[in-house]
Amino acid sequence: MSKLRTILAIFLLLAPISGFAKDYFIRIVPQPESIELQSGTFKAIGAGVSCDDAFDAASRTVVQEFAARMSLVTGKVSAFAVPVGIAASASAGKIKGFVFIRDSRMSDEEYRIEIGKKSVIVRASGFYGLKYAVESIKQMLPEAIYGNSVGVKADWHLPCAVISDKPRFSYRGMHLDCARHFFSVDAVKRYLDIMSVYKLNRFHWHLSDDQGWRVEIEQYPELTLVGGYRSGTMIGRDFNSDDGIRYGGYYTREQIREVVDYAAKLGITVIPEIDLPGHMLAAMSAYPWLGCSGGPYEAWHKWGVADEVLCAGKETTYEFLENVLGEIADLFPGEYIHIGGDECPKTEWEKCPDCQAKIAELGLKADGKFSAEQYLQCYVTARMQAFLATKGKKIIGWDEILEGELAKGATVMSWRGVDGGKEAASHGFDAIMTPTSHCYFDYMQSQDKDKEPVGIGGNLPLEKVYSFEPLEGMPAGAENHILGVQANLWTEYISTEEHLQYMLLPRLMALSEVQWCKPENKDFEGFKTKLSEHELKILDAMGYNYRRLD
Ligand SMILES: [Zn+2]
Repeated sequence: MSKLRTILAIFLLLAPISGFAKDYFIRIVPQPESIELQSGTFKAIGAGVSCDDAFDAASRTVVQEFAARMSLVTGKVSAFAVPVGIAASASAGKIKGFVFIRDSRMSDEEYRIEIGKKSVIVRASGFYGLKYAVESIKQMLPEAIYGNSVGVKADWHLPCAVISDKPRFSYRGMHLDCARHFFSVDAVKRYLDIMSVYKLNRFHWHLSDDQGWRVEIEQYPELTLVGGYRSGTMIGRDFNSDDGIRYGGYYTREQIREVVDYAAKLGITVIPEIDLPGHMLAAMSAYPWLGCSGGPYEAWHKWGVADEVLCAGKETTYEFLENVLGEIADLFPGEYIHIGGDECPKTEWEKCPDCQAKIAELGLKADGKFSAEQYLQCYVTARMQAFLATKGKKIIGWDEILEGELAKGATVMSWRGVDGGKEAASHGFDAIMTPTSHCYFDYMQSQDKDKEPVGIGGNLPLEKVYSFEPLEGMPAGAENHILGVQANLWTEYISTEEHLQYMLLPRLMALSEVQWCKPENKDFEGFKTKLSEHELKILDAMGYNYRRLD
């Protein structure tokens, strides 16, 4: 064999592992709108990171943190710089490495990534697009980018490609019930962290219920000091049992602000829920005058729907609600406050002289479709909506708020199936789809009762979450009122963070493709491949517990 042929043979032998002929894939969840894979790769290790000075400080921080993370995990410095006139130098091909350019023509959440052999040019108009571009770049890198190991030896290359992306829905939510079981600020932050990886942008925080009041209110300290605790909890699914153990906890105002700020840095807006006028036993245990009978009441030990609700006849109830919601409006800067409105039995109102007097005063009458008491709940909703409007806030309520009359400007969360959302949207209300059929992450992930932890029951496997099409059967012209999709995680049967994460993951990833991708960009088999080849490794690197794939 001649020397030349030997060299050629060695070259061909080495080619498949040298990166030259390696088969690169792009695995990103949620799937971007468009990916054009090209030949060649970009060497990301040690690449400089330049950020346009036209971006605001929060946006530049996102890019700077990416540079810092690259430096940490690769062990080779990715120098960060904020040059002036970067757009001109980049288009002249003068800049190498990662280049983040502000393009004001793009929509808020849109981004574009052009990966060449010498540079990765990212374009976005501001914080959100930039944030999502960085998340997509991180997903193309080895999973070590998510961990805290230093100087990891891995294939730090990106395949050359052009990625253009923007979300299908503007509201991409995940809910967490911290009332039935309490989760620490750190646990909530870890919940937000993983939402952020998958480009979710709304955190619906359920902060009050029959079993516990979790948010400190200055004017009513007993809400948390008394209402934040229950003297026992039913055991497993046995409604006749009680462990007799005091249970509870709450978030101080300072902790609430800490979570809100933390979420904002991740591009997530927090939507607090104060569920009213039902699901209020914990508040009533602290202030019994809130109820029709005057109590005494006790924070509930079991799950379900309590008959005792706020008295809608006494003015003192409205004063209380306005004071509480006023403080909530101050604590949470987002435009929405969720006022619940679900599962409010009317048995007490039917007997209560104050409630009946209010019904008479307002001239409310049963009309064959709804009872006078149902119209009384509409009055409560409308009054809170009007009050919150004075604070610059809009309300969201569960789909029961459609029963009777609903004032313009309210947003409906469709949970008892999708019909509430369709009805709301066809009447010109905005709606968010969160049906039990596809979006209740407290439901089990298979029918194998021996394999799954004790829970509320149901069966919502990964594939079913993935299959959800929120606009299916939507009346013509109503589509634009569907703001987006959210999954809910109620915690009656979930008391540990490990269990919480197991219920959340990997269903959160399936949800993210429902929220982000157009139907033609979804493919369950491809999604599952992304999970098994890469996404679950990200969860391992970040230290999450999750359900293994079937
Ligand atoms: Zn009453």
